[in-house]
Amino acid sequence: MDGSLPAKTPSPRAAASPAFARQRSLDDEVRFVKGVGEALAQVLAKLNIYTVFDLLMHLPRRYEDRTHFRTLSQVVPGEAVTVHGSIVAVDNVSPRPKMTITKVIIDDGTGTLELVWFNQPYLKDKFLKMRGQDIVAYGVVQQAPYHYQMQTPEWEPLTDSDPLAAHRIVPVYPLTEGLPQSRLRRIMYNALQTYEPVLVDCLPADLRRRLNLMPFAEAVRNAHFPESMEHLERARRRLIFEEFYLLQLHIAQRKIAETTGAPGIRFRIDKEVLWRKLHEIVPFDLTNAQRRVIEEIWSDMAREYPMNRLLQGDVGSGKTIVAAAAILACVENGYQAAVMVPTEILAEQHFIVLSRLFRKLGIIVDLAVGSLTQRGKKSVRERIATGITQVAVGTHALIQEGVEFRKLGLVIIDEQHRFGVLQRAALREKGENPDVLVMTATPIPRTLTMTLYGDLDLSIIDELPPGRRPVKTHRKRAHQRAQVYEAVRKLIQQGQQAYVVCPLITESEKLQVKAAEELAKHLQEEVFPELRVGLLHGQMKPMEKEEIMERFRAGEIDILVSTTVIEVGVDVPNASVMVIEDAERFGLAQLHQLRGRVGRGAHQSYCILISDSNGEDANRRLDVLVRTNDGFVIAEEDLRLRGPGEIYGTRQSGVPSLRVADILRDAELLELARQEAFNTVRADPELKQPQHRLLQSAMQRNMPRAVLATVS
Ligand code: ADP
Ligand code: MG
Repeated sequence: MDGSLPAKTPSPRAAASPAFARQRSLDDEVRFVKGVGEALAQVLAKLNIYTVFDLLMHLPRRYEDRTHFRTLSQVVPGEAVTVHGSIVAVDNVSPRPKMTITKVIIDDGTGTLELVWFNQPYLKDKFLKMRGQDIVAYGVVQQAPYHYQMQTPEWEPLTDSDPLAAHRIVPVYPLTEGLPQSRLRRIMYNALQTYEPVLVDCLPADLRRRLNLMPFAEAVRNAHFPESMEHLERARRRLIFEEFYLLQLHIAQRKIAETTGAPGIRFRIDKEVLWRKLHEIVPFDLTNAQRRVIEEIWSDMAREYPMNRLLQGDVGSGKTIVAAAAILACVENGYQAAVMVPTEILAEQHFIVLSRLFRKLGIIVDLAVGSLTQRGKKSVRERIATGITQVAVGTHALIQEGVEFRKLGLVIIDEQHRFGVLQRAALREKGENPDVLVMTATPIPRTLTMTLYGDLDLSIIDELPPGRRPVKTHRKRAHQRAQVYEAVRKLIQQGQQAYVVCPLITESEKLQVKAAEELAKHLQEEVFPELRVGLLHGQMKPMEKEEIMERFRAGEIDILVSTTVIEVGVDVPNASVMVIEDAERFGLAQLHQLRGRVGRGAHQSYCILISDSNGEDANRRLDVLVRTNDGFVIAEEDLRLRGPGEIYGTRQSGVPSLRVADILRDAELLELARQEAFNTVRADPELKQPQHRLLQSAMQRNMPRAVLATVS
């Protein structure tokens, strides 16, 4: 058996029928596929399958090679295998009350294997009726005391008559309720039969030849019903490449349009003067990394085309000063700068830091946050509009209606990951093609950067200011809390300060506040009566928040109990210990951000993760934090654990939902596709040449939802 599909011979009648004559398209609704009715179409919708293309891109999650089964005499424990055999015995046993184990013995002539299922007693009757029949089972072989066993295997009857399931490499799809494996296989086969003629190659022929890519139709067919493992490999490679390539074409077009579109501001950059002024106002020596990225930014600003740069640097790497350097260059040229941040606390802090820095140079900084009084807002708006304000720091209030800049030249967005893409665009529109600098502390793996911010230039601060000691992170159980508090007390007695982050309660903001209040009260009254405990949460009035932060900064509060409002950006170098309660409730990236609030001064800092969880996932996450302070390692791990969509929220952040490709697993193909796509667009920016004619529609089809609107 060569495993190929039955030959395709549309009958003359079918060919003549009106349905067949209709123009077919991959964009047809899936109900046009033979075997899919209204009901099944609704089931498929649960898998986000609406069109024929969606269906064909729903690839198997694994394949079973049923051309060569492993014989039962050959299996070894610990291995995941596909085996087959006829059912020779079936029984239910009850080792203890409320527990039933269904045991089935299969025999393939070379040996036997026990298959077991837990607490599904009805399976017994089902298997009894099938006694003597062949079934296929897939699972991990385990050593039981006297024999081998497979627990809760995937299984299905093995028929010789079904050409899609016997004697070939068989696809195993991700399913959903109401959709059996065999049914999906059948409709996939039908879709291929009918739609193969419209599976046209969109990739330019020379590209296909050069990279030795399998033709599209052949690739789709082999991705579902592979002729051989080698065919399968090549088929997947082709489809993954194509998905990346089409995505990168979008990105390349955007990026290249920027240097051919409307010019921006050409700032006059006198580096000598700028460095001198910067050194005058910065109280420390800049790191080499800071110097390098400042030069990169200034060079961008001097260019005719608008800067569009992403500055990436781990928490505490000193991005604020870099922002200040860009602002300085902008203001020196008579333009205004806007700094947008995600929280009022952070806006307030930037306002304080920047005002202090720029005071010496007489540069005027204003704060524009939503919580100002009506009068305050009006006056700030006027100052911005008339150009008195040289640097406006604010939250999304900055992009609200009514804020008009007189001469906006530079937009800086801090902690970019917290913003939607539309907000970025809106702020940009407040000026005439201003330069844009986006800063993020969430280290993003390079592969993701290429898809998410693929149209931005990248600067990386890969060095921490000198004298920093890595934060020591420990995991503790709840019963060790008293000991943790004692350690905190010692540090405070030595003049340091602490954060205590209260458990994350996602259901309700009210409950969250209550939890924070209770924790603060408990710590003040029962644990640290002699110390000064403060409280900070999201529901406090902005004035109150400011006051608390100011007192904490001034050292008038020893322990700040807080919700995650301190997550981003807050910088109080004297705070050297952070206790995070119920740490398992937070995401990995979030914990890293929180921890980034300490370790900012010269003291050895500590982060204590309190968690009683025994969950495997939670343990893995907490272990990563204990093990490393490296944001990039943490980000990779986070990506691995949760997947990109989860992390960056496909919708808001514009991470495209990829169908067949995986940015971690397929990183090499992503790199290749990116180069090819940029070459293509450089040679033919609007993809108008004949060999690129089909790319436009393929791009539309490939990413109908996320990307078009959001990669900006
Ligand atoms: P982040 O990159 O997290 O935004 P910040 O800009 O808030 O970091 O800087 C963190 C702390 O490090 C601040 O207190 C800042 O003053 C200090 N800092 C920044 N650069 C240097 C440097 N080159 N030398 C010493 N301290 C620095
Ligand atoms: Mg910062």
